[in-house]
Amino acid sequence: MMDFGFKISPSSAINLDNADLSLYDELCKAEPDICKCMACGSCSAACPANRFSGMSVRKLIIDLQRGKKKEAVKMLSDCMLCGKCTMVCPRGINTRHLILSICKLYKED
Ligand code: SF4
Ligand code: SF4
Repeated sequence: MMDFGFKISPSSAINLDNADLSLYDELCKAEPDICKCMACGSCSAACPANRFSGMSVRKLIIDLQRGKKKEAVKMLSDCMLCGKCTMVCPRGINTRHLILSICKLYKED
């Protein structure tokens, strides 16, 4: 193949038909409020760990909805469980409790 001096990034498209969402379905049963998330990002903006580690409840939820379990579990270790994200969520989601449930469910798997 001819060398043009650059490469095309691999596609990041996700085929949701093939994604394993069994754990996410279990999480929805344990934490039905997760469905209220509108991905506004207020939780990420308030998170003290965000600027150092990229911790983001918004991204965490999106990763779980897409079956990207490995990325989500990796992010969990950056959370300090301070609860600031819970205080600012406009949908009233107890994100701190949600994070604890995710830890329990996904780290056991
Ligand atoms: S603040 Fe609440 S609604 Fe907004 S992205 Fe975070 S969890 Fe979702
Ligand atoms: S509980 Fe975790 S995710 Fe929420 S603001 Fe604190 S460090 Fe960030």
